Amino acid sequence: MLWNEFKKPKDIEKILSALTKYDKEIRIMEICGTHTVSIAKSGIKGILPKNIKLISGPGCPVCVTPTERIDDILFLSKNKDVLIATYGDMIRVTGSIDGTSLEKRKAEGFDIRVVYSPLDAVKIAQCCKDKEVVFIGIGFETTAPSTAIAIERAINEGVNNFSVFSLHKMVEPVLRKLINMNDFNIDGFLCPGNVAVIIGEEGFRFLEIEFKIPSVICGFEAGDIIYSIYRLIQMRENKDFKLENEYIRAVKQKGNEIARNIMNKYFEPCDDIWRGIGWIENSGLKLKDEYIQYDAVKKFNLDLNPYKNNDFCSCGEVIKGKIDPRECKLFSTVCTIENPKGPCMVSSEGACAAAYKYSD
Ligand code: SF4
Repeated sequence: MLWNEFKKPKDIEKILSALTKYDKEIRIMEICGTHTVSIAKSGIKGILPKNIKLISGPGCPVCVTPTERIDDILFLSKNKDVLIATYGDMIRVTGSIDGTSLEKRKAEGFDIRVVYSPLDAVKIAQCCKDKEVVFIGIGFETTAPSTAIAIERAINEGVNNFSVFSLHKMVEPVLRKLINMNDFNIDGFLCPGNVAVIIGEEGFRFLEIEFKIPSVICGFEAGDIIYSIYRLIQMRENKDFKLENEYIRAVKQKGNEIARNIMNKYFEPCDDIWRGIGWIENSGLKLKDEYIQYDAVKKFNLDLNPYKNNDFCSCGEVIKGKIDPRECKLFSTVCTIENPKGPCMVSSEGACAAAYKYSD
């Protein structure tokens, strides 16, 4: 029976009571940054026995964007003809030089705007015809379709001063990369319900078929998460290694075909770099050649920084689930929400920000 009664406290009590009796060590990775925040906010770690370990994975889009690409965006932002439109989480992430960020660029007088939707960026382009508006496209399959919709709007409405710097990434390639690492030690995955809304149950089926790792597509309420953890433990105990969809109120077997179609109309997979992980084959999304005029990298002939992996902080290790945020020596001393040093503290979905804010 799958769980769809995520707000029944009495049932949750029964499940929690079963979980507190569980005494074997199990390591469960929540792939999604929104899950990380829900877990921290609801205090789930505090009520589970210590042997049930919840580990954050590479599911915060801002966190997995490498410093090299932040530097590329900062370079572009110095062009006086360019107006950068970005989601708010990106503006405090620092590049490699002198702690510079888009926020600092804005203070220096460069044109940086925070938007809530890529369509807002298209509107800005329609109003500011003397500027080249570059939207920073970031996120997994959840947000890539909305970026594609903005490109389609720009095409249909003849907006030629709009382009996208695509940092979009896909979930499956990074999971494959993590699983194939020598020291992979995760016993089960909480799969991101928001990504699954787009790619469907089928998008995570490879975890069951190829890797036999228990996995549950999970919603974002505390009840969803607790029940999913319970199911992962039951699967482990019964050696029944499969994929379940707990989030049936939102996720269909085949996902959202319309959203995938528009994403695939404008984007195609490309090799991409991830903070702390490096190059992953076909893990990013770039504009197709026929839409080159909407690709900021091509439009401004940007010479992208090569991957150096010389980050000074431990965000890469947090993203891979190798360390807990508190194991970073900068956590809560040098690196705080007020004065973040790495993207995992900057982003509202970052594991360090969640741990700092909610002291889970
Ligand atoms: Fe990076 Fe700060 Fe987290 Fe350390 S505490 S890993 S510096 S974000």
